[in-house]
Amino acid sequence: GSTVGIIGGGQLGRMAALAAARLGYRVHVFTPEQDSPAAQVSAAATVAAYGDETAIAAFARAVDVVTFEFENIPADSVRLMASLVPVRPGWNVLETAQDRIDEKQFFNDLGIATAPWRAITSHADLVAALDEIGRPAVLKTARMGYDGKGQVRITADTDPAEAWAALGTGLDGSGCGILEGFIDFLGEISVIVARGADGGWAAFDPAWNVHRHHILDTSTVPAPISAATAAQAIDIARCAAEALDVVGLLAVEMFVTPTGLLVNEMAPRPHNSGHWTMDACITDQFEQFIRAVCGLPLGSSARHSNAQMTNLIGADADRWLEILADPDARLHLYGKAEARPGRKMGHVNRLHPLGSDGSDAVTIS
Ligand code: ATP
Ligand code: MG
Ligand code: MG
Repeated sequence: GSTVGIIGGGQLGRMAALAAARLGYRVHVFTPEQDSPAAQVSAAATVAAYGDETAIAAFARAVDVVTFEFENIPADSVRLMASLVPVRPGWNVLETAQDRIDEKQFFNDLGIATAPWRAITSHADLVAALDEIGRPAVLKTARMGYDGKGQVRITADTDPAEAWAALGTGLDGSGCGILEGFIDFLGEISVIVARGADGGWAAFDPAWNVHRHHILDTSTVPAPISAATAAQAIDIARCAAEALDVVGLLAVEMFVTPTGLLVNEMAPRPHNSGHWTMDACITDQFEQFIRAVCGLPLGSSARHSNAQMTNLIGADADRWLEILADPDARLHLYGKAEARPGRKMGHVNRLHPLGSDGSDAVTIS
């Protein structure tokens, strides 16, 4: 049998490893974390820093293909692996997704709209950009942000000097940021597209995403959008995956506005907003991911149920017994010992028959 190498040890790696095991593969995880969620369910784990080139080379030699559940891997490590074994998706995809400036430019170059934005490397840049973009706005670090970490909202009475200081040198110490116009959206959606080595692709239905305290709270399908908006969202994700020549998954987050869709960001891997697929689709995002990186044909992404995914953050997971008693609920726990505030401990998918709640008929845009 073949061995799939997964870089990153979090819950996305865990669920990918479970899907790989179901297809008969062995999984070897590479992660800096001891007793990681992914390592708990994998045949082998290397615990080392992402920049440890000796460990990276040994890992690459031990596996048949490498993929990622975490995209912020140093360029040198990815290049080294790629010299030893197929790496899917390739470095060009990670590079673009690692930097919000490159990412926004990439979409704009494809003619895909985003919030208005400016690259910021100094307080003076910020003042000038605020003049052009106006307020409210959002200042983000260019790299390494997630769950809203590394973001500052700039409202009418925010002092730009304070906003710049709050961001400091950024989460990676580079002092590089991006200012985005604040979008007063109707809602947020995401599309996950799988793309195979042969260029074949399959997209999941757009999910309607609601955040709480800057962390994804629920993803609901069907999203309350028109068929035309859904088709356009899928077209955006497919177009981006093709332009990057992705082999694997690409998740694209978008804002739904009265004047159309705006892309927020992308992730070249399984995505939290796709966890509903585990119980509502014939082939879920993790299986599509493994199929794509292993060169297997993609499965059907068709949805057979309506679903709502709710993240279990921190102490939310204490309610697991209650969730198990709900006949419509499927519980997924990640094996994390410590329920720190803000930590994703698991999720629950609640399932309903297609069309059962009338939501198929509701459209916001
Ligand atoms: P994730 O955990 O999804 O990776 P992140 O930290 O990378 O999040 P974003 O997705 O860019 O950050 O932003 C987090 C959330 O903040 C968005 O889902 C949206 O709700 C809000 N947000 C971000 N940018 C804007 C914007 N320009 N206008 C309005 N709201 C925004
Ligand atoms: Mg992000
Ligand atoms: Mg996001």
